[in-house]
Amino acid sequence: RVKQEGRGALLFYEAAMNAQLQARLLLGQELSGAAERGEFVLHYQPIVNGATGEVETFEALIRWVHPTRGMVPPIEFIPMAEETGLIDGIGQWVIETACREAADWTHPWRVSVNVSPRQFRQTDVCAVIGDALRANRLDPARLVVEVTEGVLIDDADKAVSTLNRLREMGLRIALDDFGTGYSSLSYLQLFKFDKFKIDKSFVSKVGQSEDALTIVRTIINLGHNLGLHVTAEGVETTSQLDVLLSLGCDQIQGYLVARPAPIDAFTGFDRLRTKALFGRERPRLSA
Ligand code: C2E
Ligand code: MG
Ligand code: MG
Ligand code: MG
Repeated sequence: RVKQEGRGALLFYEAAMNAQLQARLLLGQELSGAAERGEFVLHYQPIVNGATGEVETFEALIRWVHPTRGMVPPIEFIPMAEETGLIDGIGQWVIETACREAADWTHPWRVSVNVSPRQFRQTDVCAVIGDALRANRLDPARLVVEVTEGVLIDDADKAVSTLNRLREMGLRIALDDFGTGYSSLSYLQLFKFDKFKIDKSFVSKVGQSEDALTIVRTIINLGHNLGLHVTAEGVETTSQLDVLLSLGCDQIQGYLVARPAPIDAFTGFDRLRTKALFGRERPRLSA
C-alpha cells in the first residue's frame, strides 16, 4: 500500500512538473514572437531630485501585453528571455523604443534603460545604442544605462571596456539593485559608476529595522565618498522619504512619487505634484 501511495504521489508530481514545463515552453514560444506582434510596451517611472522634487529621469520598464494573459510583469519573462537568448532582441527593442519615445517628449528629461547581463555580454550594446541615438537625434547625455553587478561577473575586462565606451559616448551608467548581489565590493574599483540605486529591499525596511537604516546610510555615504549620486528605489511612504532625504539621498523613485505608467500619464506631471512631498521642513539626521 505504501508503495502504491508513493507511486501515486510520484505520478502526481510528474504530472505537475509536466504542466509547469509545458507552461514554460508555451510562454517561451509566445515570447519569441511577441516583439514582432507588437506586444511589448514601455512604462515609465519618474526619478525625482531629492532636494527639489523635480523629475530628472524616467526609467523605462518593459511590459508584455499578452493577448490572453493581460499585462505580464518583467519578472515573469525577463529571466526566461535571459536564459533563451531572446533578451538580445527584446533588449534592442527596449533601447530603440526608449530613444524614439524620449526624443518626442515635451521636456528633455533623461531616460533610463535596464540592460541585463546577457544582453550586455552578447550583443554589441554600444552599436545598438549608438544607432538608436543617431536615428532619433537623441542627445547621448539624456540616456542612462542601468546595469547590475552581474555584468561584471563573467568577463570583467570586456564589460569594463564596454562601460567605458558608453561613458565616452556621453551616457551615464547606474548600478542597479546595489547591495543585493553576491560579489565583493572590489568590482567598484574596476569602473566608476555615475550612480548607485539602493535596492528597494533595504528602502522598504528603513522605518522598521535599525540594520536596514544603517545599510542605507552606509550606501549613501559610500556613494558620496566615491563621488557619485545615489538614488533610492521603492520609496512608498513619507516616513521612508523623510529618512532618505535627511540622509542626503540625491534622487527618489517609488510609488510614493508615482507608479510606472505610459508616458502620457505624466502630461502635466511636474513640481506641483511633488511639492507637497518635497517642499517640507525635515529634521537633519546625522550622516
Ligand atoms: P528594476 O530595474 O530594479 O526596476 C525597479 C522595479 O521596482 C520596477 O519593477 C518598478 O515598478 C518597481 N518599483 C518602483 N517603485 C516601487 C515601489 O515603491 N514599490 C514597489 N514594490 N516596487 C516599486 P518592474 O517594472 O516589475 O521591473 C522589475 C525588474 O525587471 C526591473 O527591476 C528590471 O530588473 C527588470 N526589467 C524591467 N524592464 C526591463 C527591461 O526593459 N530590460 C531588462 N533587461 N530588464 C527589465
Ligand atoms: Mg532599473
Ligand atoms: Mg533596481
Ligand atoms: Mg530589481
